[in-house]
Amino acid sequence: LLRPDGSIAATIFAEMSALAASTGAINLGQGFPDEDGPEEVLAAARRAITDGVNQYPPGRGILDLREAIAEHQQRFYGITANPETDVLVTAGATEALASAILGLTEPGDEVLTFEPFYDAYGGLIGLADARHTTVQLRWPDFQPDHDELRRAVTDRTRIILVNNPHNPTGAVLTRETLELIVELAHQHDAIIVTDEVYEHLTFGVPHIPVASLPGAWDRTITISSAGKTFNTTGWKIGWAVGPAALITAITTVKQFLTYVNGAPFQPAIATGLRLSDSWFSAVAADLEQKRDVLASGLRAAGFSLSIPNGSYFIVADATELGFEDATEFCRRLPELAGVVAVPLGAFVAEDHLSEYASLVRFAFCKKVEVLERAAAQLARLG
Ligand code: PMP
Ligand code: GLN
Repeated sequence: LLRPDGSIAATIFAEMSALAASTGAINLGQGFPDEDGPEEVLAAARRAITDGVNQYPPGRGILDLREAIAEHQQRFYGITANPETDVLVTAGATEALASAILGLTEPGDEVLTFEPFYDAYGGLIGLADARHTTVQLRWPDFQPDHDELRRAVTDRTRIILVNNPHNPTGAVLTRETLELIVELAHQHDAIIVTDEVYEHLTFGVPHIPVASLPGAWDRTITISSAGKTFNTTGWKIGWAVGPAALITAITTVKQFLTYVNGAPFQPAIATGLRLSDSWFSAVAADLEQKRDVLASGLRAAGFSLSIPNGSYFIVADATELGFEDATEFCRRLPELAGVVAVPLGAFVAEDHLSEYASLVRFAFCKKVEVLERAAAQLARLG
């Protein structure tokens, strides 16, 4: 991101949100919800501030939140984690990812991700001076080929960085793929770091945490975030869960990145994690309906689509609308239809750009009426 003149390029999300703000277009670019989350959670944060929870919390996070995270892992996935030793609260999933990658790699070690990949992965692997290797996820189902995956994991692979459900494609990995990842990690003595921030946002398929599979716990760090589940992306409360030795290793990094974070938001997220099973299912059902509204709008506008089983995002192919270059298409989309979206090229390395050139990511984590308005405007493209 560092330009030759020393200035720093904005991330694709900042760039696209700025484009939405300057043009007044509907922002289906950056993935953040346009509604607040549950009132109980918001009220708990207000209460915590009033009650004076405003100074540095403990380094690993307040115990009540660590307990709520451990209870959540047990309730939804049957995973047993000790809140004293196996849980670290972080400044969003991003800091957990940064701490894991910086703490567990030496310069030159390989970190394997799927491609396309969430933009921070490339940046963080670069900061760690590690080597980034990838396995392609291809249109339209974006599932990895198992032989390619087998070939990509070698004794040089230090971390297999999984993202499931996947940003930007919305793909949800199968149990067979996850089992293969665990098998390969054992074979090559790699650590699995798994980013599951969209864990509660799956549609008609279960979320299977890697750490719940046999043999996985001892070498897996599971990362998640309150942002997506509770519509609190600005609070930046995330966490890492895993065996004590790995959590200690990444805690040593976190203490020098932010030290601690988000004191009054921590008890609020503990409240959120203890909401009922039916509350969590309603979140997924609501988002599934939004996916369907946007999907029918995009289809009617002439795009072909990859229908996602999870996350906030739909990938659409703009070729049939006469656009083979999605970057150019996204630049013109505010003027053509009053909508902002992100080209998939923003999530791939330059040498793989051509495979994703005509693909566009649209976020559907917006109010139904906003998605319907976007759909009506996109219909002008046809
Ligand atoms: N991982 C993925 C796959 C994401 O999509 C995002 C952001 N939306 C993050 C990590 C960052 O999460 P946080 O805002 O909690 O740092
Ligand atoms: N994760 C969100 C997305 O993919 C945005 C996060 C960010 O702006 N860094 O759109």
